[in-house]
This record gives sequence, C-alpha cells and structure tokens, in this order.
Amino acid sequence: MKAAVAIKRLAKVEELRLWRQEIAQASELRATPLLGFVPTMGALHDGHMALVQRALSECKNVIVSIFVNPLQFGANEDLDKYPRTLQSDVDKLQEAGAHAVFHPAVEEMYGPGETTRVVPPAELTDRLCGLFRPGHFAGVATVVTKLFGQVCPDVAYFGEKDFQQLAVIKRIVADLDIPVKVVGVPTVRESDGLAMSSRNVYLNKEQRQIAPELHRSLSLIAENIRSKRVSVSKALQEARKRIGELPGVALQYLEVCNPHSLQPTEDATNTLVVLVAAKFGDVRLIDNLSF
Ligand code: AMP
Repeated sequence: MKAAVAIKRLAKVEELRLWRQEIAQASELRATPLLGFVPTMGALHDGHMALVQRALSECKNVIVSIFVNPLQFGANEDLDKYPRTLQSDVDKLQEAGAHAVFHPAVEEMYGPGETTRVVPPAELTDRLCGLFRPGHFAGVATVVTKLFGQVCPDVAYFGEKDFQQLAVIKRIVADLDIPVKVVGVPTVRESDGLAMSSRNVYLNKEQRQIAPELHRSLSLIAENIRSKRVSVSKALQEARKRIGELPGVALQYLEVCNPHSLQPTEDATNTLVVLVAAKFGDVRLIDNLSF
C-alpha cells in the first residue's frame, strides 16, 4: 500500500512557495532531484499518470499542477466545456503517491494588468497546430514559464503526445536559460492504438470507433517509408486520402517533419516524425509517431 501521507492541496502561490521551502529545508544533500513537476489541465487519464509515475521514479518529491489555462484557448475553442474533475484527479494523484497538487484559480495565475507574454519563435509555431490555433503556443509558453517560476522544479515532465508543445518548451527553456530539465515521456495509448486524451470522452460511439484510424495511418506511413521504401510524399498522399475518406472527419494537417526543427522533410535517412491533427465533428484530436 502506498501513500500513507495525505497529498498537499495548494491553491495559492504563497502556499506553494512555503511548501517548496519546507521540502528544500527538509532534504539533505541529494543525488536524486528534489522536485519533479508535471503540468496538466486535469481530467487525468493514464497518459498523465505515466508522467507522474516517471517523475516519482526519478525525483524525491512530485508536484502536479491542474490548471485549465484560458490563454492557450482560442475564442472558438472548448475552454468552457473542457472537462474539470478536480476531486477525482486529486484522488488519483493521492493514490499514485504524488506529494502535492497545485490547482490555482485563474485570478491566482493572472492578476489584473498582468500582460507579459512569452512568445516562442515563429519557426516552431507557424506550422502544424500553430496554424490552426493562433496564439496557442504563446499561451502555453507563458503559463509554463510562470509555473516554472512558481514551482521551481528541478525536472519537468511533458508528453510526446503533444510533440510540437514539447519542442516549444525545450526551446524556451534553452533560449531563456530556465534551470529546469525537460523530459519527454512516450505517448500512452488505448488498446486499439488511440492516443489517450482528455478530449476522447467527447467522441460519440461512431467517432470513437474510427478514431484509432489516425494512429493506424501514422503506422502505415512509417512502415511504407521504412520497409517499403515509398517516398515521403507518396506515403503522405495515400494516408491523406485514407483519412479524407473517413466519415465526418476533417483532416487539418498530416506532415512528415524533422523532429528537432519541425520543418517538413522528404529526407528519410534520419529519424522522422509524422504528425497529424483531425477534427471528428467538434472534437479535435492530434497524434504523432517517430520512426
Ligand atoms: P494536458 O492535460 O492535455 O495539458 O496534458 C498534460 C501533459 O500530459 C502534457 O505534457 C501532455 O503531453 C501529457 N499527455 C497527455 N496525453 C498523454 C498521453 N496519451 N500519453 C502521454 N502523455 C500525455
């Protein structure tokens, strides 16, 4: 049995700072990182919990933030209906053995007149999700920079599921000399291949049935390019047609890119990543596969 100690619930930055000081004072000279951090928007599933488990296995203390960040949602996006399940999230984190959960209110994070924004470089954000969600990555970069300043983690864990987000965060940490080690964690999938996402609950039965086609298409592209030596453009063309024929599905993008620069490439001699975004009715799903 794990987790005899009650998880700390922190809603104020001041409380968070006090807790941060307490654990620093309580620790001796250490080889393992003192504090691992998992930023989330809640509605926790096994994908989030894989990040928490990884953090627990590598750090002395683990804190998870739950904050649905208004800055990263566009005007016509799903901010209002984004699932909010705080109590069951806290229960899951307690059960897993996390040490603290930071769940600030919007006013705690963004005071009146607080208008500084962290804008990641256009070469990483003027493509893929950035094209369809203007301002999204500035919203993400701003909240993550604030959270890093508040939590002062040694290590922060992000899912490879949000591949472009991970690239953006690595870049701002490097460019702004933020003293946090960023770790990417592989995507956790349902048994039929669908990448776990808080938005999957909004898929209706038919949409849920065809949603694994996204991952299947990515696998097919990887296989065609690697085993069958099909060209990148031909493999993409076939997969775009395949996804385009799914009923009620609108493909936003499907690209093969260099995993570091996120620039599209035809050169299959190095590691590649194929990234996809598609709308199933109102529900926007993303996925990617490195190969
Ligand atoms: P979110 O709550 O959607 O902002 O996600 C919080 C963190 O969990 C991000 O770093 C995501 O990339 C990560 N994450 C979300 N879904 C998955 C998944 N299926 N597998 C691994 N990590 C994930």
